[in-house]
Amino acid sequence: MPIVETEERYEGAFDEVECPVCGSEDWTHLVFQGVFCADCNTRCLLREPAGDQGFIAKFDGSYTWLTDDAEMIPETEEYGATASGKWTGTPSRGYERYWFSATAEHLDEYTTDWKPAWEREDAGTGEPNYLIELPSNEVETR
Ligand SMILES: [Zn+2]
Repeated sequence: MPIVETEERYEGAFDEVECPVCGSEDWTHLVFQGVFCADCNTRCLLREPAGDQGFIAKFDGSYTWLTDDAEMIPETEEYGATASGKWTGTPSRGYERYWFSATAEHLDEYTTDWKPAWEREDAGTGEPNYLIELPSNEVETR
């Protein structure tokens, strides 16, 4: 059961990780398939960073549904629509985002102005994201 292992090894990780595509903090674990954003279905994979406490999260936009808040991760020929980030910390101290970027930003042949949801000032409505965020106790997974 790889998903159960993931949850146990990175306890609390999915409380911290916000979907970079749509800004949701709601994640759905599908056994044997992975962890997906409950709102836009972007896939998230966690792995261990080399020699550091915390985790690396890789987001795969090939599963993403187009929703109102979703801004698709820029697609690249070689790596698909992917973005990744590193969070440092421990389950007891909590995690902090260390870096985050779309794969396309690292490749010379692509230019992108894509930003993860938490860096978008304007999500199409002209309102900053924080105004439309729900208190965390209301963002319960079904
Ligand atoms: Zn999402």
